Amino acid sequence: MEKGNDKTRIICIGAGASGLFFALNCADEGHEVILLDSNQKVGRKMYISGKGRCNITNDCDTREFIKNIVRNPKFMYSAINRFKPEDTIAFFNEHGCPLKTERGNRVFPVSDKSADIIDCLFRECKKAGVKIRFGKTVKDIEKKDDRFVVKCEDETLVCDKLVIATGGKSYASTGSTGDGYRFAEKFGHEISELKSALCPIKVKQIIDRDMYKLTLKNVTLSAKNESFDKKIFGDLEFLPGSLTGPIALSLSSLINRVGNVSLSLDLKPALDEQTLDKRILREIEKDPNKNVSVLLDALLPKSFQAFFVKYARIDTKTPLHSFSRTKRMELIHALKAFPFTYDGLEDIDKGIVTSGGVNVSEIDPKSFESKLCKGLYFIGEVLDVDAFTGGFNLQCALSSGYSCALEMKKAL
Ligand SMILES: Cc1cc2nc3c(=O)[nH]c(=O)nc-3n(C[C@H](O)[C@H](O)[C@H](O)COP(=O)(O)OP(=O)(O)OC[C@H]3O[C@@H](n4cnc5c(N)ncnc54)[C@H](O)[C@@H]3O)c2cc1C
Repeated sequence: MEKGNDKTRIICIGAGASGLFFALNCADEGHEVILLDSNQKVGRKMYISGKGRCNITNDCDTREFIKNIVRNPKFMYSAINRFKPEDTIAFFNEHGCPLKTERGNRVFPVSDKSADIIDCLFRECKKAGVKIRFGKTVKDIEKKDDRFVVKCEDETLVCDKLVIATGGKSYASTGSTGDGYRFAEKFGHEISELKSALCPIKVKQIIDRDMYKLTLKNVTLSAKNESFDKKIFGDLEFLPGSLTGPIALSLSSLINRVGNVSLSLDLKPALDEQTLDKRILREIEKDPNKNVSVLLDALLPKSFQAFFVKYARIDTKTPLHSFSRTKRMELIHALKAFPFTYDGLEDIDKGIVTSGGVNVSEIDPKSFESKLCKGLYFIGEVLDVDAFTGGFNLQCALSSGYSCALEMKKAL
């Protein structure tokens, strides 16, 4: 068993966003920081984040940021306030990875390459003296006297402080297989039920192949039942058998503990029914001898029309001059509240994040130390914290890693 030198030894399991940022901020000549990861490279999940562009943060203030955290926003307040989105932007700009801000305050590397974010974190870890050990899958951990025993497949290490930064359970092929929950349970921690979040919403309707490349811009998707009513405005996309894109992903995080819901899509949220009717009448007056398909051309993208007509039962061959008021009202209703039949959420593995995790009431919100076991820490997605898309999840990972590092250094 490797015991290390006389220096305080800190081991962090997981070299993802939270582990890397913890390590580079904690490393110091006075103590040893070791990062263990089962992969042969750091930041595998970050590599695929933001469709390969890595939406690293959201350039908004703390109040706005907290509103975008779905589970346990108050718990994250202190860490976000301590390491804000503006600090993330300054960090990468100052360390050779310039960033840019896009629509919705989403922040990306100027190069549009997630690899540049990862390289920057890796470089800074190396500069700070962090020892990174690849291909080290931690199988088990235990506490003996005041130290932790970390068992990998081929070796056992001991340390004085142990940080669990193993991520959630989604996209397990990136390395986040949910081991952190098992480690937490071993030390008596409660794991709030794990659910898919930021994942496609399955629907019973058959999605036409033509729609896979379609983005419906500026629409509103709502989910309702007797005790729940939420709507989200933005862009919607489609997959075989499911709704995706920013608004479906965000809505999935809100309905993952709600049970059955009715889904409906407002294709014209900027227009109330009366205004929409006036618009339709104007279109009809332009050329009353044309049929309803011409009217649909003015109202909907081509690749959505066949699907819309099929499920809204609209006869496109009807000439506009005989398109009755009743028919117009039916069309308006379908445009304002197009129903999708909810068929559950995709599996946890297909979620961008995992909802649920280590119960935050058992964790100190500044140091991220376990209240049940001294010297044991949890950062990043392994915690019961998840946020909407837009760079909020990676910022939570960075802020928790940073705050943990600072408090730990103070206490050494
Ligand atoms: C497709 C996709 C796109 C995303 N896009 C964005 C985005 O653009 N913006 C955003 O804010 N968020 C995004 N996210 C979410 C974000 O990437 C995660 O929330 C974030 O990476 C979590 O960081 P983490 O450090 O907690 O965990 P991870 O980054 O998952 O890192 C955990 C690490 O722990 C290691 N590990 C796990 N178990 C063990 C073990 N037993 N032994 C050794 N090592 C272990 C894993 O190999 C892994 O490297 C995206 C997620 C996905 C899946």
